[in-house]
Amino acid sequence: MTIYTDNAATTKLSDAALNAMLPLLKESYGNPSSLHTVGQQAKEYLEQAREDVAQAIGASAKEIYFTSGGSEADNQSIRTAAYLGAKKGKKHIISSKFEHHAVLHTLKALEQEGYSVTLLDVYENGIVKPEDVANAITDETCLVTIMTANNEIGTIQPISEIGKICQEKKVYFHTDAVQAVGHIPVDVNKMNCDMLSISAHKFHGPKGVGVLYVKKGIPLKNLIEGGAQERGKRAGTENVAGIVGMAAALKEANESLDENMKKISAMRDRLIDGLGKIERSRINGDLSHHLPGTLNMCFEGIEGESLLLLLDAKGICASSGSACTSGSLDPSHVLLSIGVPVEIAHGSLRLSLSEYNTMEEMNYIVDTVPQVVSYLRSISPVWEKITKEEK
Ligand SMILES: *Cc1c(COP(=O)(O)O)cnc(C)c1O
Repeated sequence: MTIYTDNAATTKLSDAALNAMLPLLKESYGNPSSLHTVGQQAKEYLEQAREDVAQAIGASAKEIYFTSGGSEADNQSIRTAAYLGAKKGKKHIISSKFEHHAVLHTLKALEQEGYSVTLLDVYENGIVKPEDVANAITDETCLVTIMTANNEIGTIQPISEIGKICQEKKVYFHTDAVQAVGHIPVDVNKMNCDMLSISAHKFHGPKGVGVLYVKKGIPLKNLIEGGAQERGKRAGTENVAGIVGMAAALKEANESLDENMKKISAMRDRLIDGLGKIERSRINGDLSHHLPGTLNMCFEGIEGESLLLLLDAKGICASSGSACTSGSLDPSHVLLSIGVPVEIAHGSLRLSLSEYNTMEEMNYIVDTVPQVVSYLRSISPVWEKITKEEK
């Protein structure tokens, strides 16, 4: 038995995505830049996928650039705004403390290149305040980049308000919407954003493919030079099968969005009901502005890593936070950013659900996690100390 609850790290490929990809791998395997029939067939699939993705987020096809994933889209959008800003002598960028590393590390690199970066507080509830964005913008600011939904704690940010502020102040606004697209409604017009990042493998599409939405009129800067693919802005033969699979996955996700949100949040509520009862536990992030399927909790007195291993042995695949920081012993920068004390942040558990999960699986998790937490506490010197201090 395997219960997969690590959908914020990656998701299973859907049958719809797989079936859409097969013809591109088998028959229509041509290079979309080739003039012959096989190439032009691939080109047709590619442009249909562009139309479909555009429609799914309220954009037009010309605003869609295919990338190798969310990380590339984040890098390219941020570097584009930084480059355009520098041309006008504007080298200040605003972001938040709990962005994905694809954003934070790009900003780190830009700091080395002479940019200044302001990382806004996300407070205890894990939500950026629009007024903080307004207050941080100066004449030097070229970009605000704030994620739509956080990948570790699931909190949703006030994106359209932030976008409106940026529009008024004439500052580019990018949002990493990787955790949002396919999970909650996403519309680039309602969000008032100039650029938006998407990754296919977070909504049951294939890995290694994503989208950068760029509003008409913004000249994108290349990260990769070479051929004229993607209107000259992203060289390299297109990952046609991946792109077509992504479009199919997104279509399916959006068609069942309401139904899935209901189903998934009911399962998450079952987890909250069951696991919230564990003593000295806490739920991280404001649940009233939240993705349907992500639940992040901390249990005092235990190590997240030990918890994960024991849960895995019982068939539950979960995470302690970000897949990108696992393997390092540093506590999550996201949990620290919302003020979770270091020693408690070590005992974190992220359960991220999808429509492929079942209520039976949730019941099993609700039975199993408290047993494992109790066992780990029974052998934990830290827990012994905590409970002694209480007496
Ligand atoms: C997964 C993720 C990314 C990276 O996307 P890749 O396609 O894996 O490069 C970026 N941002 C967020 C919020 C993510 O969850």
